[in-house]
Amino acid sequence: MTKIVILGGGYAGLRTVRQLAAAKVDAELVLVNQNSYHYQSTQLHQVAAGTKEVADITFDIQGVLPRGVKFVLDRVTTIDREQHRVLLASGSELSYDYLVNALGFESESFGIPGVEENSLPLVDIPTALRAKEELENHLARYQYSHDENDLAIAVCGAGFTSIEYMGELAYRLPKLSKQYHFPLDKVKISCIEAADKILPMFEPDLAVWARQYLMDHGVTFYTSTSITAIEPGKVISKDSSFNANTIIWATGVKGSKVIADSGYDQKRNRVIVEEDLSVKGNPCEFLIGDVCAAMDPNTHRPYPTTAQISVVQADCAARNIEARMQGRPGIPFTYTSTGTVCSLGPLAGVAQINFLGHWKLKGMKVGLVKKITSDRSAFELGGVKAMLESN
Ligand SMILES: Cc1cc2nc3c(=O)[nH]c(=O)nc-3n(C[C@H](O)[C@H](O)[C@H](O)COP(=O)(O)OP(=O)(O)OC[C@H]3O[C@@H](n4cnc5c(N)ncnc54)[C@H](O)[C@@H]3O)c2cc1C
Repeated sequence: MTKIVILGGGYAGLRTVRQLAAAKVDAELVLVNQNSYHYQSTQLHQVAAGTKEVADITFDIQGVLPRGVKFVLDRVTTIDREQHRVLLASGSELSYDYLVNALGFESESFGIPGVEENSLPLVDIPTALRAKEELENHLARYQYSHDENDLAIAVCGAGFTSIEYMGELAYRLPKLSKQYHFPLDKVKISCIEAADKILPMFEPDLAVWARQYLMDHGVTFYTSTSITAIEPGKVISKDSSFNANTIIWATGVKGSKVIADSGYDQKRNRVIVEEDLSVKGNPCEFLIGDVCAAMDPNTHRPYPTTAQISVVQADCAARNIEARMQGRPGIPFTYTSTGTVCSLGPLAGVAQINFLGHWKLKGMKVGLVKKITSDRSAFELGGVKAMLESN
């Protein structure tokens, strides 16, 4: 029997499994993931800021898998692409006829010294929990240490993750101040960004609104400031340095290291894929989600790596595998954005929506749009059970 192995139980991988199962493809379906749970990575910043619990953004994978799908709880180390074998950390291996590689993203240090040792990325549940714990430890320590660096938080990068994290943090700080007895007005949040603006994916007026909102809630922005090193308790740029005992690293991500380790022709662990999302020269292998660079035919640049796009890529890859198995031609991947939402804590946010026209939203109503988006995404991956479990 034909065997389709799907690597990664994130947005792209889980959705592929569901679509292949729904299409009743005549194949054995095997999903490999390193955890028993799926996490909504679009909400990791909330766990890091402490506004959501892990249970709010996770659900059990096996509980939502379609009947007949085999689940392998293991870590992929490499792929032997010539022999069509996936090698696993446990020492076992899986053979495949078709492979869907959806192993997602990792933190990117851009080779800047000290990033890995001295800062906190937000890329999965353990890193989000560690960021939360370190933040709270430092805030709690202030009442004994009176070290102002315990109340200083440096957030590196001013893209989506950083901005959403600071929104949650600003919302939670008054509660933390009561809990850990520190003066709220002494907290210093510095956001350090190499570009001259924040939220580059947003229209300028919305980005300016978000910036002002965060400034009103205690954030100081240092744009056009390239970070050159991170030392313990210190972010260093060419002209200045920022002392902070909590340093969050959210300047960008790269694809899974399994990509480089498996000999793909890649850049930052992302592979330029064919228009049907297969790998050049290997029509039985598909790369989707954050490990792939799918070219946008309009801009001639890769589409951004987002959860929304990962899910649409999963639909395309599933259809193309089915077509290939039946000897039919595949379809090219295309994507039209329905919009982008950036929350600034539960009470505010900015959004640009393309639905029955083009809408720009800011303020409280964006919180509702974000909630609908998260619920829909859980539903798309695991049905009603997943939606209810991750709430
Ligand atoms: C804080 C934050 C906020 C974001 N907000 C948004 C947003 O609002 N909207 C949006 O569209 N996008 C957002 N993104 C981007 C989005 O999360 C990613 O684009 C999306 O998760 C990519 O999906 P994926 O399935 O490719 O990978 P992932 O979601 O990373 O899934 C990969 C899966 O593979 C597993 N895995 C990894 N390596 C191995 C291995 N070696 N062996 C076995 N299993 C492995 C992982 O555990 C995970 O389950 C955000 C990202 C972050 C970090």
